[in-house]
Amino acid sequence: MEHLVEHMRISYHSIHEPVCGICQKHCRSFESLREHLIGPLPKAECEKIFKDRGCDLCLTILRTRSSLWTHRETCQFSRTNNGVLYRMANLGIQDELRIDNNSRANKVVALACKMVGGGTDGSLDLCARVCLIDENERIIFHAYVKPQLPVTNYRYETTGMRPELLRDAMPLKQVQRKIQDYLCNGEPIWQIRSRGGNARILVGHGLDHDLKCLEIEYPAIIIRDTAKYQPLMKSNKLSNSLKYLTKAYLGYDIQTGMQDPYEDCVATMRLYMRMRSQYHGSEANPLATDPQNRNNFASWRQNELERMSPEKMLDISRSDYYCWCLDTTTLSNY
Ligand SMILES: [Zn+2]
Ligand SMILES: [Zn+2]
Ligand SMILES: [Zn+2]
Repeated sequence: MEHLVEHMRISYHSIHEPVCGICQKHCRSFESLREHLIGPLPKAECEKIFKDRGCDLCLTILRTRSSLWTHRETCQFSRTNNGVLYRMANLGIQDELRIDNNSRANKVVALACKMVGGGTDGSLDLCARVCLIDENERIIFHAYVKPQLPVTNYRYETTGMRPELLRDAMPLKQVQRKIQDYLCNGEPIWQIRSRGGNARILVGHGLDHDLKCLEIEYPAIIIRDTAKYQPLMKSNKLSNSLKYLTKAYLGYDIQTGMQDPYEDCVATMRLYMRMRSQYHGSEANPLATDPQNRNNFASWRQNELERMSPEKMLDISRSDYYCWCLDTTTLSNY
């Protein structure tokens, strides 16, 4: 019991963590749940049931084998059902960035860039193409970007970029200002809070890098990054690639051959929606950092804690990361 209490004090278990549908084990990430169910070194009893009626994309256990098949049809995404939009992204500039000062419309947007090389060895990333989509995978903005430094490597095989595409492209400063204004949506940047307000939730993969290349500043509290979201990270706390996440959680391939920022936007938005739509129940103060939770363990005496059931202890334990399911309540409050 002493060890369990100690473990609960420092592990921040909560109702938001991925849980094994069979033995109810709490996992720090979907990757560790995957290891628990599929391997390497899975738990034998759980592996056996999972093999029979578990979904290898969302890792839930269905009641029967036939419900698994029905479930798979909604769980599995495909690359081709966005064919029309996908081709539209290649048309060139598309600009529907409107400051609407309306907190409901396009509250969540995904952004992705494609980089070409600058500097003497071509290793410096320069943004050459940027795309922004809404929750319905519709393109809000797409443009080729004229970098401020000379391009020394177009990285043609992966980017498809050629000098003529950038010759009349939109200058970086202009792109930066447009996107910055669109994201803040009339809200002064220092005033942006996690809930309430008009600023938009920004979804992406490795956004630190994208935003740095675009010279955009945006507060972390309103960013949802699939490279830095704990449930989607490796068990050693390193990021997974977007290519891997899309294959593992959505069931299709991206970034084969020439890459398109629209396709990356769609993949991150789908991952975000999948994470957000999980049902975890509700708590008054969901985060360990909420001031109300500071004394959750401290206010109990050690011997009182040792007499608690594991469920009761889980009850007073809070998450140390912001679960995206919490966006559902935030968004429905508008
Ligand atoms: Zn949650
Ligand atoms: Zn299990
Ligand atoms: Zn599934």
